[in-house]
Amino acid sequence: MRILISGASIAGPALAYWLGRFGFAPTIVEIAPELRTGGQAVDFRGPLHMGLLARMGVLDELRALETGGTAMRFVDEHGERLMEWPAGLAGGDLEVYRGDLARVLCAAGAGHTDYLFGDSIAALTEHDDGVDVTFASGLERTFDLVIGADGVHSRVRRLSSGPRNGS
Ligand SMILES: Cc1cc2nc3c(=O)[nH]c(=O)nc-3n(C[C@H](O)[C@H](O)[C@H](O)COP(=O)(O)OP(=O)(O)OC[C@H]3O[C@@H](n4cnc5c(N)ncnc54)[C@H](O)[C@@H]3O)c2cc1C
Repeated sequence: MRILISGASIAGPALAYWLGRFGFAPTIVEIAPELRTGGQAVDFRGPLHMGLLARMGVLDELRALETGGTAMRFVDEHGERLMEWPAGLAGGDLEVYRGDLARVLCAAGAGHTDYLFGDSIAALTEHDDGVDVTFASGLERTFDLVIGADGVHSRVRRLSSGPRNGS
């Protein structure tokens, strides 16, 4: 099955990893010219989160990148401390920078994923044999499945379901 995922942040590479585990070799198109590594801390907590990272085989790598958490301090208008959360409470069981998480997830599925950076979907035409995709670069390819992992202002959602809130 030819699968196209739009967006290489967190959801896209994570999905590509799992698709690979089931024998698929997806393509990911990302509008940015390279993996976006910005952002702040992301926390994981509880057996569901930790178990999932272990099943994906990325837990040890993420452990090595752990921030160690940061205590969170609440202050009043004079800067006087009102309350403080210890690092463990604020950071959960594992805290890493979002950029590190994106890099690790991307690497986890890289062996079976074709990445197209600096491009995006311009048009989708669905027919009985799949979806014809025209990319902004002019590239044209046909896929069986197109998945939107391109964030809250998803181009895929807009192209497949029409404009939302007038946008
Ligand atoms: C650079 C960055 C920094 C962030 N920092 C934080 C943070 O510090 N704390 C926090 O809680 N959340 C942060 N977020 C949001 C957080 O990553 C997401 O809300 C959450 O992880 C959901 O991830 P997602 O993969 O569904 O979507 P997103 O993380 O929103 O990623 C969407 C991806 O799709 C790409 N994209 C967008 N439009 C197109 C298009 N038309 N074609 C192809 N690709 C497209 C984007 O460049 C992006 O890589 C950040 C997101 C980004 C992109």
